[in-house]
Amino acid sequence: MHDFRHVNGKLCCEGVTIESLVKQHGTPLYVYSQKTLRDHFQELDRALVPLDRLICYAAKANSNLAVLRTFADLGSGFDIVSEGELRRIMAAGGDPAKCVFAGVGKTEPEIEFALRQGIYCFNAESEPELARINRVAARLKKVAPVAVRVNPNVDAGTHHKITTGTYANKFGIAFEQIEGVYARASKLKNLRLRGLQMHIGSQLTEVQPFELAVRKVAPLVAALKAQHGLEFFSIGGGLGIVYRSALASGDAKWWRTPEAKNIITPQSYAARLVPLLQPLGLHILLEPGRFMVGNAGLLVTRVEYVKRTGKKNFVIVDAAMNDLIRPAFYDSYHEIVPVRRKGGVTVSSDVVGPICESGDYFAKDRPLPKVRQGDYLALLSAGAYGSVMGSNYNSRPLAAEVMVSGRKSALVRARQPIGKIWEGERVAQWA
Ligand SMILES: *Cc1c(COP(=O)(O)O)cnc(C)c1O
Repeated sequence: MHDFRHVNGKLCCEGVTIESLVKQHGTPLYVYSQKTLRDHFQELDRALVPLDRLICYAAKANSNLAVLRTFADLGSGFDIVSEGELRRIMAAGGDPAKCVFAGVGKTEPEIEFALRQGIYCFNAESEPELARINRVAARLKKVAPVAVRVNPNVDAGTHHKITTGTYANKFGIAFEQIEGVYARASKLKNLRLRGLQMHIGSQLTEVQPFELAVRKVAPLVAALKAQHGLEFFSIGGGLGIVYRSALASGDAKWWRTPEAKNIITPQSYAARLVPLLQPLGLHILLEPGRFMVGNAGLLVTRVEYVKRTGKKNFVIVDAAMNDLIRPAFYDSYHEIVPVRRKGGVTVSSDVVGPICESGDYFAKDRPLPKVRQGDYLALLSAGAYGSVMGSNYNSRPLAAEVMVSGRKSALVRARQPIGKIWEGERVAQWA
């Protein structure tokens, strides 16, 4: 589900042509549809109406202030992983009291800052962390709300770099140890045991692993509720999205692709999970990231050169792995479509960036329409884990970001001026 369409051969985001945005802001350029962001939040929230629920958008998927504000305005909470993310949420007008703090390595200053802001809960991942939170809270004469992340040891069946819920991962505490951990934590005076949390992985395209995990953990959370008065159960994020869109093949009905037909939806997710969760009588938290923003964004890039070698047709573009690292990092597939659609034959092409790494590519042996220098291409489904993973590798500035709503558009991150890249650097005095 998204709001990017070719209209009379021109790619549009809602009511704005991508070409007009490129003319104004240049490339590489991230473009987000606010309508898509809102629709995703509301569709998921509505599917879960039978539950006492709070969606805590996982800010790490895309933490642009305009994206955060869009969700804050819809009443969203946030899943955060650092002090920086909490400060962003606050800068965007989000409510710290709706924030849950995840991550295996929370530092003392981070814990102190979050505690002072009155976040909803710390999702702790180890006993040493619980001890540290208790110590910081005691020093501040506060009681820290905590949950423990349970590792249910369920294989999410996704890419190994985004599997988090098995005992081979660094995340959470083993299912069998949880009751003992809560018993010991209940003796720490400056902790309040508020909930239980889990998150089994990312880009799960089927409901089955979620259902297995919830079935396994539900009796545990019920027992902990009885023993320690827990108030919430967070089932984490991980809902997968369609990356192979039929938009590329000229079919506006993307849901006709085989991938799309079988993929998890808010409705299928809710149908299988609500009956398991409702009887618990707990506040249910969800932490979706990718589902909310992935298909709401694309990355526009300009063709700089077309280079034919003996074997290959290379389309060299002005975006690179420093702008969107997912193909290099996770072998991810992103659909690539021309911003202005032309007829004609397709050519098997490698779409590559200018960075000096063989891993700097966006597609290999992809049938693409013939393109020329100066044409623009769009990499779809780039809203999640795209701009947030941007870097200055090869001293390339961070890309600009634009948000569209109807016929309006706003620059929501200016292109980084090149001089800012080394702003914090100094030549050593003795050099
Ligand atoms: C990353 C993360 C999420 C979001 O994952 P998605 O796959 O983007 O939905 C949710 N919860 C925790 C604890 C995470 O680390």
